[in-house]
Amino acid sequence: MARPRTYKSEGIILKGIPLGEADRIVTIYTLGSGKLRLVAKGVRRSRSRMSGYLEPLTYVSISVAEGRNIDTITEVEIIQSFREIREDLLLVSKGLYFAEIVDKFTVDRSPGSAEFKLLFDGLGRLKASYTTDLALRYFEMQMLKITGFGPEIYQCVECHTELEVDSHGFSNLKGGILGSECRSKSSEPSAAISVGAIKLLRYLQNESYDRVMGLNIPEVLLVDVEKLLGSYIRYVLDKKIKSKEFIGLISS
Ligand SMILES: [Zn+2]
Repeated sequence: MARPRTYKSEGIILKGIPLGEADRIVTIYTLGSGKLRLVAKGVRRSRSRMSGYLEPLTYVSISVAEGRNIDTITEVEIIQSFREIREDLLLVSKGLYFAEIVDKFTVDRSPGSAEFKLLFDGLGRLKASYTTDLALRYFEMQMLKITGFGPEIYQCVECHTELEVDSHGFSNLKGGILGSECRSKSSEPSAAISVGAIKLLRYLQNESYDRVMGLNIPEVLLVDVEKLLGSYIRYVLDKKIKSKEFIGLISS
């Protein structure tokens, strides 16, 4: 029997799901090849040396053997364990949320160095327990921007005139802010958005992480923006999934 072809890669573990009795399918976001789904054999047995190395949010270097349907991890080495995150429940939940966002916004084997950098930097910054939910909003907005779904927040999505300082509407369908006048004429649903929320969205889209984290944002505004971005992301991901299915249909 011919020996399987092997290759090396490095990346951050996004998640793992059990396979059979002792194996696991590991999803890893790699620097060179984007998202990969690989089998790790025997890792759910207690004496497996690999097991602890393949936990979510670990940055590892791996050797992989090509398989007919799915490739298999043969060796793992830790590059960065991000242990500070794992030791703090609040940080773990934030880190896992980053991983989930990356997983949902990306497709298999499509290289994305910006996505990798966003995740790596995001985890690296999650060191202090004072990291607020603003970090999550920053991550969401940056991921939208990288993947081409950054919302239009300077001009009205309908008439393209610059928005006046006022409360307006946010349209998921149109991908951004609908000026108050166009909103009143529109029959499509849009969520009300305050001046403060528009400002915060602009900060999240265009300012550095440090500047954003230095802002003192009232809780009520944070909640508003969380709802707004959450609803927009659900809309975008749904559209993405449908278009992916469509691509699958026409290429089969
Ligand atoms: Zn308008």
